[in-house]
Amino acid sequence: MQQLLIGATLIDGTGAPPQRDAAILLDDGGRIAAVGARQSVLPPQGAEVIDVSGMTLLPGLIDCHDHLADHSYALPHRWRLDEPQSTRAVRTATVLQRTLGTGYTTVRDAAGLDVGFKRAMDEGLLQGPRVLLAVNIISPTGGIGDRISPSGHTCCVPIDPSLPESVANGVEGVRTVVRTMVRAGADVIKCATTGGASSRPGHGPKDPAFNLGEMRALVDEAHALGKRVMCHALGGPGLRTAIEAGVDSIEHGCYLDEDPELISMMAEKGIFFVPTFTVYVFHREVSPPHVRVRGRDLEPHHIESLHRALEAGVKVGAGTDAGGHMHLINARELQCMVEVGMSPMQALQAATGWAAECLGVERDIGSIQPGKLADLLVVEGDPLQDIAVLQDVQRIKLVFKGGQLCVDRRLDPAPVPIPQPGLRV
Ligand SMILES: [Zn+2]
Repeated sequence: MQQLLIGATLIDGTGAPPQRDAAILLDDGGRIAAVGARQSVLPPQGAEVIDVSGMTLLPGLIDCHDHLADHSYALPHRWRLDEPQSTRAVRTATVLQRTLGTGYTTVRDAAGLDVGFKRAMDEGLLQGPRVLLAVNIISPTGGIGDRISPSGHTCCVPIDPSLPESVANGVEGVRTVVRTMVRAGADVIKCATTGGASSRPGHGPKDPAFNLGEMRALVDEAHALGKRVMCHALGGPGLRTAIEAGVDSIEHGCYLDEDPELISMMAEKGIFFVPTFTVYVFHREVSPPHVRVRGRDLEPHHIESLHRALEAGVKVGAGTDAGGHMHLINARELQCMVEVGMSPMQALQAATGWAAECLGVERDIGSIQPGKLADLLVVEGDPLQDIAVLQDVQRIKLVFKGGQLCVDRRLDPAPVPIPQPGLRV
C-alpha cells in the first residue's frame, strides 16, 4: 500500500533550506514517489495517510565509521576470550536492532562485523540498519590490524574464517589480503597507514604503516574489485601516503592541519574526510594513560583540520568509531560537530547526503528525492535548533527503511539500554 506522510518540516539531506508542511509519497516498492508542498502531492486512492504535523522529517541517518560487533577495548574482548561467541553474537544483534531504533538506517562497519549478520538481516531473522562491511583492518606487521599483546604474544585464538587474517606485507601480500576480504564479504576495504590513539605504545598517531608502493597496490586492487578504500590515518608520513595513494576517505585525519597541502590534495582528488570526535572524548577521559595523552594532544588539531577541510571544499562524513567505547550514541557525533563549529545543517549533511556519497550509495539513499529508497526518520523537535534532539530516542517517533515502518514510537516506549561488559561511560 502506498503511504503519504503529511505536515512535517522536511530537511531533505541536500543542504536545501527546510520546507514546512511537506508531503512525501512512498510507492509500493519502498521508494519515494513524490515530494513537495502538501497541496502539490495528492494522495492516490487507497493510500495510507500518516499525519506527522509539527515534526521534522529527515533521511535515515548514516554513520560512516562504526564497529557494531565490538563492545570493549579490553584485550580479552578484542581477542574474543571474555564470553561465549554466542553471547557476543546476540549482543551484536541487539546493537544492530537498537541502532536502527535510534534512526540510523545505514552504518558502515569499519571492521569486526562479519557477513553472517548481514545474511541474517537479509533473511529477516534480525532487524537492523543497512550495513556496509569492511570485515577486518588491513595493516602491515606492527600496524593496528596486527593482533599482538603488550607482552609481544600473538593472539592465541584461531582465526575465524569470516574475519580473516588482515596483516599484509609487500605489494603481492597486500593484493592477496584485499581479495581475501572481498571473498569474506567486504563491501569496502579498510586499511591503516598510521597508529591511532588506542594503539599500542610505540605505534602512535604519527607513526607510519605501509609504504607508498603497498598502498598504491591496495587501492588499485580494491578499485579493480569495485570497492572503495577507507583508510585509518591520523598524521605524519602515513597520512600523506594514504592521500597520495588515492584512498576514498580519510578516517580520523586528526593532524591534517599540520600539512595543509594534504587538504588541497583531498579536495582535488575528491577524498572524503570522516573525523571521529566522539571516540576521542572517551580516549581523553577514560582510556589508559598513554591513550589519554594522545587524545588530548590531537584534539585542537582535529578541530582545526575539520575547519580547513570544509573551507577547502572537502566533503565530510560523520563517524563515531563507536563500539569499543559505547553503542547507540551515533548522533552524539553530530552534536560534537556542531560544538566545534559546523552548522547544524552541515552536521546533518555529514550524516545524510554527504555520508551517502562517501559510501558510494548516493543513488539510493542519503536524501529525500523521488526515486530514492524511502529511508526516513520522523523526529519530534527541530534538529536545526537543537541537534541534540536526535540523541533522544523518545523523540525518534518513526523510522522507515526501504519504505517499511520499522520503528513506531508514537505509542510504544523506548527500549531499555543494552548492558555492555566493561562499559565505563
Ligand atoms: Zn575505527
